[in-house]
Amino acid sequence: MARFTLPRDLYYGDHAIDELKNLKGYKKAIIVTGGSSMKRGGFLQQTEDALHAAGMETMLFEGVEPDPSIETVFKGAKAMQEFGPDVIVAIGGGSPIDAAKAMWVFYEHPEKTFDDIKDPFTMPRLREKAIFVAIPSTSGTASEVTAFSVITDYSTNIKYPLADFEITPDIAILDTSIPQTMPKKLTAHTGMDALTHAIEAYVATARSSFSDPLALKAISDIFDDLIDSYNGDMEARGRMHIAQCLAGMAFSNALLGIAHSLAHKTGAVFDIPHGCCNAILLPSVIQYNSRACMERYAQIARAIGLPGSTDKQLTDSLVNAVRELNKKLGIAQTYRENGVTEELLNANIDKICENAVKDPCTSSNPRPIDVENMKKVLLCAF
Ligand code: NDP
Ligand code: MN
Repeated sequence: MARFTLPRDLYYGDHAIDELKNLKGYKKAIIVTGGSSMKRGGFLQQTEDALHAAGMETMLFEGVEPDPSIETVFKGAKAMQEFGPDVIVAIGGGSPIDAAKAMWVFYEHPEKTFDDIKDPFTMPRLREKAIFVAIPSTSGTASEVTAFSVITDYSTNIKYPLADFEITPDIAILDTSIPQTMPKKLTAHTGMDALTHAIEAYVATARSSFSDPLALKAISDIFDDLIDSYNGDMEARGRMHIAQCLAGMAFSNALLGIAHSLAHKTGAVFDIPHGCCNAILLPSVIQYNSRACMERYAQIARAIGLPGSTDKQLTDSLVNAVRELNKKLGIAQTYRENGVTEELLNANIDKICENAVKDPCTSSNPRPIDVENMKKVLLCAF
């Protein structure tokens, strides 16, 4: 038995936020967002105006930090319990959307603890109190369509990818005008996150006939549009917003692999953005996994027109193409070049790799891996 789950509705295009006006039959909406980017861009006001036009009272919960903490999640859940919304609208990058998903769980089930929902597919039933609307402002995590929420425990510096189809949003709104305000570096990092989602989904053990075409189309669109988007071509940036969402539809169902296991465990410890960790790790991960699924990487390389006639040549071409892409996006290729010292690595490598082996993303990786090999993959990217 297998399952494929997506949000019920997806609205997309310029000014798709206005679709909120048509959300009828609800009374109260809480808006969850990050720092100030959505306010500065005017998108928060548009969201509030549209919800008011739909006849709703609104409350704002702002200040979700990048890589949100367990504390922020419980603060938001408390605000929801006091206000009693029947709609949760999360607007911003992956961080506020992920945080809002976890707040939603503890709003609906105040009796639960973080430990109760840490393991994949152990969430209680939602939607007794509220529906969930996600409006992404970055083009990477695709949290608007995924069954995941990544929450960081800062007491241990571990990122937990919470996973359950129950937290897949009900409505995703891809307003292509929002990512236009992203600075270049954010565009590069989030774009590489999306590429990693699509490539990992295409080779993951839970891949299917439903996820394959989404992943492949996302990969080819990202190779076509990411550099132009990075260089300020806003039409390419709009297409990237759609492409990252296709990647999200694929990986939410096909799951991911060890690039994400290591990104989750190195991100907080080394203080490097999630997408940047993926960009650094992806070439080494393709090399490690190629022993198990070289023909799949070759299919990707062929689909995007890379040179080579054997599967080995095509896989090497893919690794080179990823490195080339990183270079054109101004992303330094190693942890060392991103400021991680030998001392910091040595002090943490055992814990990082032990935790990465236990990360849920490892179980869908195409090639099994132990702690020793995880260290080798990490060191290749160092
Ligand atoms: P964040 O949500 O962490 O945002 C990073 C920064 O970008 C913030 O400072 C934010 O500012 C700013 N920002 C966001 N959108 C814009 C915009 N349009 N214009 C200008 N600035 C903007 O970034 P990501 O989207 O990369 O999310 C990363 C998080 O998502 C990580 O915790 C990662 O682990 C997780 N993740 C989740 C997945 C999932 O399936 N749920 C998959 C992959 C990653 P401000 O705070 O002011 O809004
Ligand atoms: Mn990711």
